Amino acid sequence: MIDKETTLTNIEDNSLPSGPDGSKRKVMYFYHPDVGTYYYGCGHPMKPGREVTPETQHEMLKESRKFNVGHDCPVFYGLYDFCRTYAGGSVNGARKLNDKLCDIAINWAGGLHHAKRSEACGFCYVNDIVLAILELLEVHERVLYVDIDSHHGDGVEEAFYLTDRVMTVSFHKFGDYFPGSGDIRDIGSGKGKYYSVNVPLEDGIDDDSYQFMFKPIMRKVMEVYDPNDVVLQCGADSLSGDRLGCFNLTIKGHGECVKFMRSFNVPLLLLGGCGFTIRNVARCWCYETAVALNMEIPDVIPDNKYYDCYGPDFKLYVPPSDMENRNKMAQLEKVKAEVLDNLAKLQHVPSVQFQETAPDFEIAEAFQDLDEEQNMDDLRPTRPRDGAS
Ligand SMILES: [Zn+2]
Repeated sequence: MIDKETTLTNIEDNSLPSGPDGSKRKVMYFYHPDVGTYYYGCGHPMKPGREVTPETQHEMLKESRKFNVGHDCPVFYGLYDFCRTYAGGSVNGARKLNDKLCDIAINWAGGLHHAKRSEACGFCYVNDIVLAILELLEVHERVLYVDIDSHHGDGVEEAFYLTDRVMTVSFHKFGDYFPGSGDIRDIGSGKGKYYSVNVPLEDGIDDDSYQFMFKPIMRKVMEVYDPNDVVLQCGADSLSGDRLGCFNLTIKGHGECVKFMRSFNVPLLLLGGCGFTIRNVARCWCYETAVALNMEIPDVIPDNKYYDCYGPDFKLYVPPSDMENRNKMAQLEKVKAEVLDNLAKLQHVPSVQFQETAPDFEIAEAFQDLDEEQNMDDLRPTRPRDGAS
């Protein structure tokens, strides 16, 4: 955990105590491979005897097909622990934000945005983002999800497509590209109409074009939606030179999105995502950790175990390539205008009547020796009951 000097004093208000200048933040960083394995909250724990392993996958062929495990999402040793670890980190990050123990929680192992409720998809097995957002919704009314991976954040959008309690905003390559969804006309449905936002982009987008879209759209989203928390999926396959990606962002350009979302002074969960040129993924999330902490770090890779991977320049920042930017200004203007127009249709921030929730496990444990009936009222945490002011 990286603990900056900020202290938490303003617990009544949801805005951060560090003030609107955006200089100081208390940051928690989940990095241990076993992080989250001790989270035993609500849910349906998988029975170890039913765990799919390379040895048992043939016996479970039917299940493998049902849950789409096999091709893009192969069974490998430690798969179950891998899922527990990355999902546990994200859920724990959300809990730390709920408990106001930090302003920014980081889990670079998380951000597996393609997984669906009952099937693995696109290298993603368990959708840790959805689980983390559900955790945030236990305490807060509105959560904003922002996705800067080059692929559409389909799993998260699908999970919250019908609700106004989560707004999802995805910037992605659209057209002949995995997963194929993310059309600008997909705006949510029912109560969730206009709460799904898709910003389709073309190959080769550079820093300037990206920020031309990102900042005005996100500024408007923050204004009309006024979320209690922001979850930012920082998929690094939108970087220049990614093995599978097709964008041309620099690390500073990518990190500018983190910097911008951080500036709104709202609790922030930073998650990873795709990224297939590993040395650049490490560079990117290193830089973005520094952005979270508001620290400048030098453009030199320090000596480390993987130093040789960073040659020949051994620098932190990666220059853009000379690939063509297929995003023409007129098209970007058109997309931006349509998205802003949809956002303008949201007249007010949605509110929700909060129900009494089950007590936290720790609190319940502390009270376990007391008479249950007598103390249930004390156990229940205070939740907001009215809509947003
Ligand atoms: Zn991706």
